[in-house]
Amino acid sequence: MNIDLVEKVKAEIRDVVDFPKEGIVFKDITPIMLDPQLSNEIVEHLATQYKDSGITKIAGIESRGFLFGYPLAMRLGIPFILIRKKGKLPYKKVSYSYDLEYGSATIEMHEDAVDANDKVLVHDDLLATGGSAEAAAHLIKKCGASVEAFNFLVSLDFLEGDQKLKQFTDNIQAIVN
Ligand code: AMP
Repeated sequence: MNIDLVEKVKAEIRDVVDFPKEGIVFKDITPIMLDPQLSNEIVEHLATQYKDSGITKIAGIESRGFLFGYPLAMRLGIPFILIRKKGKLPYKKVSYSYDLEYGSATIEMHEDAVDANDKVLVHDDLLATGGSAEAAAHLIKKCGASVEAFNFLVSLDFLEGDQKLKQFTDNIQAIVN
């Protein structure tokens, strides 16, 4: 891992205490978006990491998973897939519902986004409990594709979200742990 990059990303992530509710420390990545040079370094770093990995597509989880997922896909020359909350995608969809602490959530993907030949990298800005990434992986598998790797800018390791993802692959990486 490029220690210099890790330190730069760490330095630009802003902790917002008690957002969106009391007791949560929100990891705000928007300062990174104000720094195009660092943003570029992140994309280059990820491109080096995944260029020979055999992944055929990148799936970004709404909405901050789109920010680096799409530039990375373009840099690698592979397609990008949007995984969105229910009701946002216009075309024919597949969906997956999962339990939250209170209630449930449904995510969707266009039905022609992946096929059985695809090896997908699931990307999001942050791994917390792992519920969102796990649901995304189930959705991809439901369409017959395989999940080759998970990638995040930040992993809150103390929440052990990776435990939910190891059923798909051991290839789970973050820039900042
Ligand atoms: P989880 O499904 O619990 O792993 O939560 C991950 C999703 O929620 C990601 O899409 C994150 O953007 C968002 N998220 C959860 N916790 C935080 C946090 N402390 N700071 C920023 N985003 C968070």
